[in-house]
Amino acid sequence: MKPARFSYAAPTSMSEALALLAESEDARVIAGGQSLAPMMNMRLAQPELLVDINRIDGLSGVGLDAGSLVIGAMTRHADLAGNALVKAHAPVLAYAAGTIGHYAIRQRGTIGGSLAHADPAAQLPLVCMLLDARIDATSSEGVRTIEAADLFETLFTTTLEPSEMITSICVPLLEPGHGWGFRLFNRRAGDFAEVSAAAIVFNREGEAAVRLALGAIASAPFRADDLLPEFDPQDAGWPTRAAAIVAEAAPIEDNARMPADYRREVLQALLEDVLRDAMRRA
Ligand SMILES: Cc1cc2nc3c(=O)[nH]c(=O)nc-3n(C[C@H](O)[C@H](O)[C@H](O)COP(=O)(O)OP(=O)(O)OC[C@H]3O[C@@H](n4cnc5c(N)ncnc54)[C@H](O)[C@@H]3O)c2cc1C
Repeated sequence: MKPARFSYAAPTSMSEALALLAESEDARVIAGGQSLAPMMNMRLAQPELLVDINRIDGLSGVGLDAGSLVIGAMTRHADLAGNALVKAHAPVLAYAAGTIGHYAIRQRGTIGGSLAHADPAAQLPLVCMLLDARIDATSSEGVRTIEAADLFETLFTTTLEPSEMITSICVPLLEPGHGWGFRLFNRRAGDFAEVSAAAIVFNREGEAAVRLALGAIASAPFRADDLLPEFDPQDAGWPTRAAAIVAEAAPIEDNARMPADYRREVLQALLEDVLRDAMRRA
């Protein structure tokens, strides 16, 4: 199918882009176009105006600032996966970005687009929740910072206002003593996840903690720390026990391809691996 008629603007400055978003009744930002273009072709989205942000300088790249990684919204998945700062300070983010779709999608898709699109099966919303990332959303009114946990409302729905644009993502650095795990289960390489899980384990000088996020099983990714039994890094059987407890309690929905019971079994196996990986790396 072809998209419905739309107008197109490619501003070269933030102020121009924000004015277009503020003025139009039904404008949409287009970044990598890897989700919006197919949705427009299928007429699931019919914006009146596309505001292409690819020509605005300063929206991509990764830097360090006050104990955090600051990632421009237009940073492509492939650049995130290969970036030395991300690999050093948030390796779970680099790894997860490298598992998104296929080569061509990773070259064009952006972190801002993935977060704004809010697919519950997507890698970057899941990992941003795990890492307690903060998202800067800019409009002609100014900048609003949104905790990742407050961004994703439900399927393809965020708390962003139509006039707001994600401009950067701030990810607290993982200090030494942190280990990570990320796994997804999909039907074919490059497909969206049917089930996904990511964990961070901290284990240093008598202090231990674990964070867990689950994706693809409900209408939005979510933190599942409170489903875990008390963490004991000395107990080799803890990942097996924790995986069984979390999989049993997790709110798993049926989807068109797999019944919830099957997905629960898959989740349990993934969780055990994710928790073991994170403990081993801590
Ligand atoms: C075949 C295929 C397989 C895929 N597989 C996966 C996968 O396995 N995992 C995965 O996570 N993704 C997958 N994707 C999606 C892909 O990663 C997209 O890149 C991503 O979801 C959207 O990023 P984008 O930059 O292309 O956004 P776009 O398509 O340009 O936009 C998506 C949405 O976000 C909004 N938006 C974009 N940028 C901003 C911004 N800065 N501020 C506010 N709103 C914004 C747009 O208005 C639109 O609503 C796949 C896509 C395809 C086509």
